[in-house]
Amino acid sequence: MSQESLDPADWNDLRAQGHRMLDDILDYLEHLRERPVWQPIPTEVRHRFHEALPQEPSDLAAVHQQFMADILPYAVGNAHPGFMGWVHGGGAPVGMLAEMLAAGLNANLGGRDQIPVAVERQILEWMRTLFGFPETASGLFVTGTSMANLIAVLVAKTAILGTRVRTEGLAASGQQLRAYASAGAHGCIAQAMDISGLGTDALRIIPVNARFEMDLERLEAALVEDRRAGLTPFFVVGTAGTVDVGAVDSLATLAGICRRHAVWFHVDGAYGALGRLAPDLAPRLDGLEHADSIAFDFHKWGQVPYDAGFILVRNDTLHHQAFASPAAYLRRETRGVAAGSPWPCDYGPDLSRGFRALKTWFTLKVYGARHMGAVISHTCALARYLEQHIVANPALELLAPVSLNIVCFRYRCDRSDLINARIVTALHESGIAVPSTTTLHGRLAIRAAIVNHRTQEEDIDALLKATLALGARFNAMPTSELDS
Ligand SMILES: *Cc1c(COP(=O)(O)O)cnc(C)c1O
Repeated sequence: MSQESLDPADWNDLRAQGHRMLDDILDYLEHLRERPVWQPIPTEVRHRFHEALPQEPSDLAAVHQQFMADILPYAVGNAHPGFMGWVHGGGAPVGMLAEMLAAGLNANLGGRDQIPVAVERQILEWMRTLFGFPETASGLFVTGTSMANLIAVLVAKTAILGTRVRTEGLAASGQQLRAYASAGAHGCIAQAMDISGLGTDALRIIPVNARFEMDLERLEAALVEDRRAGLTPFFVVGTAGTVDVGAVDSLATLAGICRRHAVWFHVDGAYGALGRLAPDLAPRLDGLEHADSIAFDFHKWGQVPYDAGFILVRNDTLHHQAFASPAAYLRRETRGVAAGSPWPCDYGPDLSRGFRALKTWFTLKVYGARHMGAVISHTCALARYLEQHIVANPALELLAPVSLNIVCFRYRCDRSDLINARIVTALHESGIAVPSTTTLHGRLAIRAAIVNHRTQEEDIDALLKATLALGARFNAMPTSELDS
């Protein structure tokens, strides 16, 4: 073998080292609970990631040792049962093993005639069925819901303006498109408007009601008003599980409004859409089946290791027309490797694409949809458990209704924002629990989003106990000491 090959001279050595690496990461997962959720990163560890480009080889074992010492202990901690910040999935060992297989196969899922693409289409079929979409629906793995929402905006834009917009640009259309989302919608919706060239001013933010759901009367009024003003409403985003509080917009009613006003109905179901897997939650998502497109993630409630987002589009033709473009070097055949058209690259901006479908396929097959649904239900049961303890404790105050798996609350005190923010950073540094914060009605809330399949009542108990202890301690301290 030539000196230039990257394969080992001795496969047995590599095999032994590979087995050690596998054992180490399985040990990590098995004993996760004994670790801090997160720990502050020592300065010398940060410094180690500013070395010069290595010119000479190193031992795989030595590099792995550095991973174990300097990388593994200083991740965000979302695999840990005590992690409740933002909306992060926990990942599962089966998905991890599948990811290793995918990397070994090194499949490029841009297109061509290969079973890895059939695996991705299998996931598409499963999701079509789960969400009640027709057989003609198309879909694609993407990095995450941010990208999936962007794709939805682009498909809807091309659908309303016609494919000419792809060559002539937006200005030539002479139309002023308008999109609509609630005040609880994720920031990536505005970002999608920005990136697509429509501009964030073309997104109208509709206020929410007391349950943090889109006020549908206000939406309808806005649609009528904009149409009268000569603007072109084209895109309405319903959210299934808002990032702040987990509110679910009334999807069935939204679907009717979109039909009446002839606008594209998109659902951002980043984490919430997979609630369809849980029989007790599924009815909350009624109306999802009427969407023109759904963006969601397998890496949140689906527990698939990062990253694994998905875009599902009802009308395959409109999806294809928004992205397909001829290129001599991507010529299609009916036989050989270049067969199998249309290819995934015809449905999105990526040409080279990894095999995200494999870890998702393994996860759904090995655990089964029913079990995944039970995991999702359990996170909501834990949220209700946390809610009950908050409501029962006069030192704490619930700040939003608990709709799914997200609980927003505060420690009751004067200087509330200051002290609650301090509680959260102290919780992080303690390694006991990692909630995040949000602002609701102008007040800072401690926000626990229970997404991880590993989280149990004992983790909720630990969060409560530490919050109460820290709250009492900080409340007794003068402000000058709180800042340090
Ligand atoms: C997480 C989330 C997003 C963004 O998804 P990514 O996978 O992080 O890109 C969008 N919308 C909602 C409601 C989310 O919870």
